[in-house]
Amino acid sequence: MTPVPVGPLELLDIDHLLSDEERAVQHSARRLVDDTIRPNIAQWYEACTFPAEMALTFGKLGLLGMHLQGYGCAGMSAVDYGLACMELEAGDSGARSFASVQGSLAMFAIHRWGSEEQKQQWLPRMARGEFIGCFGLTEPDFGSDPAGMRTRARRDGQDWVLDGTKMWITNGSIADIAVVWARTDAGIQGFLVPTDTAGFTANKITGKLSLRASVTSELVLDGVRLPADAVLPGVQSLRGPLSCLDEARFGIVFGTLGAARDCLEIALDYSRSREVFKRPIGGYQLTQQKLADMTLELQKGFLLALHLGRLKDAGRLEPRQISLGKLNNAREAIAIARQCRTILGANGITLEYSVLRHANNLESVLTYEGTSEMHTLVIGQALTGLSAFS
Ligand code: FAD
Repeated sequence: MTPVPVGPLELLDIDHLLSDEERAVQHSARRLVDDTIRPNIAQWYEACTFPAEMALTFGKLGLLGMHLQGYGCAGMSAVDYGLACMELEAGDSGARSFASVQGSLAMFAIHRWGSEEQKQQWLPRMARGEFIGCFGLTEPDFGSDPAGMRTRARRDGQDWVLDGTKMWITNGSIADIAVVWARTDAGIQGFLVPTDTAGFTANKITGKLSLRASVTSELVLDGVRLPADAVLPGVQSLRGPLSCLDEARFGIVFGTLGAARDCLEIALDYSRSREVFKRPIGGYQLTQQKLADMTLELQKGFLLALHLGRLKDAGRLEPRQISLGKLNNAREAIAIARQCRTILGANGITLEYSVLRHANNLESVLTYEGTSEMHTLVIGQALTGLSAFS
């Protein structure tokens, strides 16, 4: 008797490790992706856009700032948040990036380092998706080494005046509020910049071959004048932006697995139906080796993500552990997406299937939130006690 085929995450009965509530969160995010992202994603990808209206859809399901407590946020666990990221990224890395930037970068910055008034003013409407946030840290000459940033904020009476340029900023052109990190006399500080402030411009970056269903922009700050209370009072060092990046990286550890799982499910399905030399290609040993190896990596990646999620929920997760997860899961996900593309042959290069779209997206995921090289150096430093950054 031929055994019934199992899904790539079913082989280890990984669902068994999740609670009923966690499975419910995962299923509702998956339904949202099936209903609103899958039918449109090829078109958004070709048009190089992510519709701002999706913010309200995400907000209704509590996906924006979902792991934050209070201020209209859903207050879910880290594992819940990770599973939602996984489902969003199974739809497209652009969808997960939207939720990550809104919740883990912009909202988290306000939640962790903002004043009570700032939290009350911005967070509830950001959680509902009525206001979109972006997070401006990277500059044209400072990506991996943000400590070199040139964007400057100076006092002028009670006001702050900001000058500088931020680059590669997700959601920049569709944002209502930008969290901008700038150098001040006191150190590195975060500023809340309403995007309709005079002197603020967001220019959409065109010609991207990766993460096309996501808006990426250059932010120009030319004498942007802000009131005294625009500064986030809680932090005056790189610890501020780095704490936000840790939150977003955690989502990526899970998210990348969603993209990989989607590719693998498609490749599995294709391998059973595509006949070459009069037999399904899934019946050939070379194809089975690819499928088995990818399934192994996907499941290992999930176990790693879940372990990190449980540590985070126990309040024990360290940044260097997130580096391990981001490095491994982004690297393995892109390898899986590329391998799945080979199984689909020529069909794999089109937008009709998601495999090359995911692989192209994962090029960005490999680079943003700390490149693979940076996370390797973090781990190297943890192991040797020696810094190889500079
Ligand atoms: P660089 O820092 O110039 O690095 C180039 C290469 O050199 C990399 O391979 C790097 O690993 C390597 N390298 C650098 N230093 C070392 C070293 N010491 N040893 C060995 N290798 C080294 N930023 C934001 O602030 N907000 C956003 O919302 C945002 N969204 C993004 C969206 C997309 C689609 C992309 C592509 C990027 C986004 N970024 C965002 C920017 C992203 O975080 C940076 O691109 C990233 O930090 C890398 O910086 P860089 O591109 O300047 O590369």
